[in-house]
Amino acid sequence: MRLLLAEDDVDLSQRLKRYLAKQGFAVDTYDNGIDVEFYGREVAYDVIILDLGLPQRSGLEVLANWRAAGVKTPVLILTARNTWSQKVEGLQAGADDYLGKPFHQEELLARIQALIRRATQTVAERLEVNGWVLDEETQSISNATQRWDLTGIEYRLLRYFMLHPGVILSKTRLTEHVYEQDADKDSNVIEVYVNRLRQKLGSDAITTRRGQGYVFGELK
Ligand code: CA
Repeated sequence: MRLLLAEDDVDLSQRLKRYLAKQGFAVDTYDNGIDVEFYGREVAYDVIILDLGLPQRSGLEVLANWRAAGVKTPVLILTARNTWSQKVEGLQAGADDYLGKPFHQEELLARIQALIRRATQTVAERLEVNGWVLDEETQSISNATQRWDLTGIEYRLLRYFMLHPGVILSKTRLTEHVYEQDADKDSNVIEVYVNRLRQKLGSDAITTRRGQGYVFGELK
């Protein structure tokens, strides 16, 4: 899952990025409204965390522009002063949730996970598909008999597969959702990670659709 974190407080931004990366998210950070608006529109993020008090263009204006342009990405706004009018304005502009500063990282994480579950229509804290259970806390995958630890990218990739079972996922789409902006995004690397997952889960867990991509589980 890939997140856009729009925050001009560099300390806070770096701290949150480290924390969320540890939780298995790819996180891009931008610190001004113009970049934030551009990347939020051009990149298929899974969730956007948007500070309303951004330089150059306010978060509220950015959000309204996204929604006017048809960007449907779930947006969680961060409001510096926890005033009801800011929250209401943000929600009216199309935000899906909000958090008043200061907040606990765990609270932010819980809300991001809730937005992802809502967007992907999954309900469980742990993700279960075809007898495979992905444990978000330990970043491991298990079936009835065995459990495997996953590396960061393996976990992010498998999580994306399990949120879209039976759907053909192209290498490009997988690359977009698994890597951060400044990472070396070679889509051939996806192939390497798919093969590593097959070594753990068995060769039939992920099937290749020639020229189209990969499918986790049976094709819908
Ligand atoms: Ca700010």
